[in-house]
Order: sequence, then structure tokens, then C-alpha cells
Amino acid sequence: MSETALATAAAAPGSPVEFPAGAPSAARTLDKSAAAAPSLIARDRGLLWHPYAPLDGPDPYAVTGASGTRLQLQASDGERFEAVDAMSSWWSAIHGYRHPVLDEAVRRQTEQFSHVMFGGLTHEPAVRLAEQLVELAPDPLEHVFLADSGSVSVEVALKLAVQYQAAVGRPGRQRFLALRGGYHGDTFAAMSVCDPVDGMHAAFPGLVAQQHFLPRPPAARLNNDGELVADASEVTGWIAELEETAARHARELAGIIVEPVLQGAGGMYSYAPECLQALRRVADEHGLLLIFDEIATGFGRTGRLFASEWAGVAPDVMCVGKALTGGYLTLAALLCSGEVAAAITASEFRALLHGPTFMANPLACAVATASLELLDSADWRKQVQHVQQGLSAALAPAADMDSVRDVRGLGAVGVVQLDRPVDIPAITRAALEHGVWVRPFRDLIYTMPPYVSSAEDLAAIGAGITAAVARVHG
Ligand SMILES: *Cc1c(COP(=O)(O)O)cnc(C)c1O
Repeated sequence: MSETALATAAAAPGSPVEFPAGAPSAARTLDKSAAAAPSLIARDRGLLWHPYAPLDGPDPYAVTGASGTRLQLQASDGERFEAVDAMSSWWSAIHGYRHPVLDEAVRRQTEQFSHVMFGGLTHEPAVRLAEQLVELAPDPLEHVFLADSGSVSVEVALKLAVQYQAAVGRPGRQRFLALRGGYHGDTFAAMSVCDPVDGMHAAFPGLVAQQHFLPRPPAARLNNDGELVADASEVTGWIAELEETAARHARELAGIIVEPVLQGAGGMYSYAPECLQALRRVADEHGLLLIFDEIATGFGRTGRLFASEWAGVAPDVMCVGKALTGGYLTLAALLCSGEVAAAITASEFRALLHGPTFMANPLACAVATASLELLDSADWRKQVQHVQQGLSAALAPAADMDSVRDVRGLGAVGVVQLDRPVDIPAITRAALEHGVWVRPFRDLIYTMPPYVSSAEDLAAIGAGITAAVARVHG
């Protein structure tokens, strides 16, 4: 990190947060839970499935504490690490761990009630959160469906689009147009709109619905003016292909679903905002609902409150999740326009046909409200800008390494792409030995740290990733 970048970063506001007394510090005290970690890992092995991992895969690390931007971890060999969190627990823990305001929001709600069914009942936390979401969301979005995870909100969005088409007299429209390289979740309908090659289609042939796919839109990078720019002729070519594909399949399409501007789990890839404007136009021409999956990108991560703002385009339906509760509890939401809701209300079924047991869980809603208020009061724009500058300086040295193909970033996201698959256990361990928690996939080592990360945290993340790549891949 250059001196000037350090100076800018240090001057950035919003970083110092007072975390609770008794929070784990860098000092290595030996507490009982930490000492017990190796046997904890042994009990886990063969018993618990972890995400996309075999039961007998590499040992996980035991978490013995988490506070602010730090994780206390212990390996199965007993070694303990105090690590700067580079992952925000998969985009979600934007304010860091054990945030006093979020802790208090959960505590206060448990003193009222922790859960009640949402069928026939309502409560302050749900209404308050829905009001906030409508206030924040792009203009035509004015109705809210609370779901219990991102994947479920995508399921509901796809159902909604099919119900909408039937309601407006086009019952044959049940398929979707999606992007290669996209990721929308792990349930069946969500899987069907994930990338058909890198996704899970091959594991469930015949069960995953057939959808139509467009190539990834042309890659875009941030220029010095902070604009996201792509090659204009590539954009023109992509738009022509979009128009042609949409026209060819319009009679069977209910909607278009994309992650706006930044594809996350499908490859950490940012693309030209103009493509969203073209998607809006084409959706309108053919009567398709435009669904933006902002589950990863929402709430400031890309440097805009919602990534759709990069293009100034509003969708008909938007899904949010992940950072919604500041990483405290599982919750997602779908928002839709008044026009879409009116069509459903006038239809045979009248309702959106979904209703999970834990819909609008009050604890989750209460902490989501607190997290959204914190975003505002902590000035997320400055925080994200600070993270963007810090990461861009701290990851720059990686660009010169032999095994590195590309270094890029957008908002509070930084990506180091190798020219080969990452040796995940080796990189994870090497980064931990440099005090950083990362979770790479495929050829990507990426970071989306908490917005409250300090200049030192960001420098440590860059140094840790660079050192780990140097040691493992050269
Ligand atoms: C994580 C993610 C999902 C799925 O959310 P879950 O809460 O894991 O079900 C869907 N879409 C995008 C873009 C995501 O990043």
C-alpha cells in the first residue's frame, strides 16, 4: 500500500466502532473453548456436511470467537489464528461481528417475542422493515415479500413472474432468460437459472428446468473517474444477441433474471452497465418481467446502494438477502412493482403462492432494521469508498506475480484471479498464517471485507493474499 493510499485510508470515517468489552483481542489468551477445538473438529468430521464439501473433505477450522473484523480460529492440529476477516461471511457481515447495535436489536426483540407465524398475524419488525426497504429501493418497487433465504426469494421471484404472465393472459410463458456465469442460489428453480455449465445442471439432468442463456455481457472495469466502462463494440454486439434471443423465445419467456453489474459466485465478474439498460428495453418490448438479483450486490457492496444504480435502471422485481441482516440471521426479501402486484391481485389465485413457516421472523426483521439504520448512520458510501481504495492499493502488487492472471475490484470487492485452479486448503492455511481469512473458489481468491474494515485490516488482507499466492503458486 502506498503512503498516500494509507493516508487517505486512515482519514476515512466510519472505521472505529466500539465493540463490546471482553471481545477477543490480538493477545493470545488460552480459553477452554479454544483448547477444545481439535476435538470439536473431530466430532464434526463425518457428521456434518459443509457447503459443497465431501464429508471426509479437508478439516474445517473451529471458530472460537468473532468480533469486529476479527475471527478467532483454531486448526485441527491445534494451531490458533487471529485473522482479519476478508469474506464478511459471504457478503453478509458488513458491520463486523458482535456489533453492539445489532446485538442489542436482537436482545431487545427476544424480550418481546422471537417468532410468531405470519399467516393471519403481523408485527412491528416486519412492517417497519418493509417500509424501510420500499423507501430505499428503486422507485416502482413498492410491495415486499419476506423470505427465509436468498434462494427462496429467487424461487418466489420466478413463481411471481410465471403467475404474472398467466394473470395477464399469457399462461404459456414459463421460461426465463438468464446470463452465462450467473448464480442465483441452490434450490431447483434457482439452480435452473445459474450458469448451465459451471452450475449444478449436470448433477440433476432432467430435473433442472431448461432455460435460455445469453453470453456473459462484456467485462467492465473501473476507470480513473470511477466509471464502469467496457469495450463499446463488444457491448453493441452483445445487445444485438440479446435482442435476437429475446425475440426468438419471447412467446415462452416469463422474465429475465440477472445479477446487475457484478456476477458473484459465478466468477466475480463485473460487466457493462449499458447492458442493463438494454435488458430493460428488451423486457418492455416483449412483456417480460425484469428481475434483478441483488442478494450479493445490494446494500452498498458495489459502491452504489443497489448495483442497478450503476445503470440507472429499475427492475420489476428485486431480490435482496445476504447483508440484509448485517449477517446476523437468515432473511431475504423480494420487492415488486405496483403493476406486477395489481396483476396478481386481479388473477384467479389473487395471492403470491408462497408462505414459509419462518416468514418475516421478528428477530431477523428487527436486526435487519438495525443494520439498515447503521448503514445510513455510518455513512456506507464513505466506508465502501475507503474499502475500495484500500483494497485496490493492497492487492496491486499481486498483479506482478507469475501465477496471477488478473487483479480487479468494484466497490468493497477485490479479486485476484490466477491462471490455474487455486489450491484451496494450501492458500487458506497460508493466508491464515499471515493473519487473514479467505475462502477461494475455482481460480479466484477474492475478498469482500466488512465495511468497517480499518486501513490496517485492508493492508493486511492485501499482504496476506499476496504472500499466500507467492508461497503456494509463485
Ligand atoms: C448467495 C446468493 C443467492 C442465494 O442466497 P442464499 O441465502 O444462499 O440462499 C442468490 N443469488 C445471489 C446473487 C447470491 O449471491
